[in-house]
Amino acid sequence: MIVADKQRLIVEEINKWKEKHHAIILAHNYQMPEIQDIADVLGDSLALARAALTTEADVIVFCGVHFMAETAAILNPGKTVLLPDLEAGCSLADSITVEQLRKWKSEYPDAVVVSYVNTSAEVKAESDYCCTSSNAVEVVNSIPRDKEILFLPDMFLGQFVKRETGRDNIHIWLGECHVHAGIRPDQVEDVIRHHPKADLLVHPECGCSTSSLYLKAEGVLPEDKTHILSTGQMLKHSKVAQADEFIVATEVGIIHQMERQNPGKRFLAANPEAVCPFMKMITLEKVLTALKEKKHVITVPEQVAGKAKQAIDRMVTIG
Ligand code: SF4
Repeated sequence: MIVADKQRLIVEEINKWKEKHHAIILAHNYQMPEIQDIADVLGDSLALARAALTTEADVIVFCGVHFMAETAAILNPGKTVLLPDLEAGCSLADSITVEQLRKWKSEYPDAVVVSYVNTSAEVKAESDYCCTSSNAVEVVNSIPRDKEILFLPDMFLGQFVKRETGRDNIHIWLGECHVHAGIRPDQVEDVIRHHPKADLLVHPECGCSTSSLYLKAEGVLPEDKTHILSTGQMLKHSKVAQADEFIVATEVGIIHQMERQNPGKRFLAANPEAVCPFMKMITLEKVLTALKEKKHVITVPEQVAGKAKQAIDRMVTIG
């Protein structure tokens, strides 16, 4: 049987089981193309958190990584949240433990803690606010300017927020996502040199974003063609922009949707090897098994969930 036929049959089965369990499939922009194509909701972390909060389905199949499924379970405890592969983790979320955060907080007892959504439920429970790359600047701007802030765990996003808000009382945890950190400024400059008319779309988590801002300010990168955007904003921009060519500096999975939404426009990866191995763990076969066997159910202890929810609720309502 050829691959396309096999995939079609699996998708038919998935749809059958989805209906049977009254389930919804949420998928992140970095998922494999065939997973993106079966999603009921496709988006970045913030869009998926909002979808998890408002869905009327009984079962949420989360095609993303572990912390995202945890967030869905916290936001909507009445639903069954399934993660098709328990190994789908996140190197950025792993860069800070709850013990490390408690120790850091003890050094700055009056500081407000802002956690990027890529963190464990325990870390969220020790935080005052959560944010995503879409609303990190708005979240920090909503906190009184005289308050010290502990921003974690992504140092590139932290630097971006510090620059955008003009605050010097933000302390930044030195964590990073190995995929985004792998997109180096020299690679981006090289692609730009070969495609001078292209718009450059940079994710704030990307290792080159701070230097991209600097290069933009110095005039090395064209002011009007360099855009620092969350993944959701990148998709919107590629639809409305005049440019025909785009250089995309984030995980390559998002290019599938950009191409689908914009036939005739060209999308180039700043680094074609920027592939998140965790996101690519979810396959059609695993989604089918998850639905059939109702596994792996993601739950969060009530006490942790209650505290984490306050921080997540603030994230969902701001920006
Ligand atoms: S791309 Fe990076 S931040 Fe996103 S899930 Fe993968 S490891 Fe985590």
